[in-house]
Amino acid sequence: MRHCAAGCSCVLSRARVHCPPGDQRSKSAVPDHVVPINKAQQLQVEQFTLECIARAQELLAMQLAPIPVMFDLKGRTAGMFRAQGRHCRIRYNPWIFAKYFEHNLAHTVPHEVAHYAVYCHWGRGRVRPHGVEWRWLMEQFGVPAEVTFNLDLSGVPQRRQRRHRYRCACRDHAVSSVRHNRMERGEASYRCRYCDSPLLPASDID
Ligand SMILES: [Zn+2]
Ligand SMILES: [Zn+2]
Repeated sequence: MRHCAAGCSCVLSRARVHCPPGDQRSKSAVPDHVVPINKAQQLQVEQFTLECIARAQELLAMQLAPIPVMFDLKGRTAGMFRAQGRHCRIRYNPWIFAKYFEHNLAHTVPHEVAHYAVYCHWGRGRVRPHGVEWRWLMEQFGVPAEVTFNLDLSGVPQRRQRRHRYRCACRDHAVSSVRHNRMERGEASYRCRYCDSPLLPASDID
């Protein structure tokens, strides 16, 4: 699997983006558990996001409204641009930013802003998320548009899919939240593929 250095996973394509690790620090400087960026750093990221939006506005000669910026992204993804109709927002991962602050400020921020600008200018589905338009903007921003690199994300909390314990007549099953919720709502029932007996919540038969 190819990982983005910034860890950006673009929601439009679910493609990974690839950039070099500008500021990979020495390992000894990195604590075991990364602490998310503080308010002052968040402000700095928001400020730079606005600056990039203003720059994109000039480059494309069009109005680009400021959009909400959130720091609620988890896992291996450093940044994400999300559009639902006219509602756009950018989400950043405060742990990955904490671990590689300068790098993410310099790469992830323009990366996501470029997605926003491409979305506004060319519209969803008309151009590829990391296509020539996006690349052109990145070039104008002076940020490399593609290089594969694996960032060391140790200490960054990883998103875990919650699993629910179920049992059949023969074994334990780890059931995803989606299936668990369906069973809770009575919309579905599942059978063990080995013994064909129904799955029951483990607590019910403990
Ligand atoms: Zn992207
Ligand atoms: Zn079974």
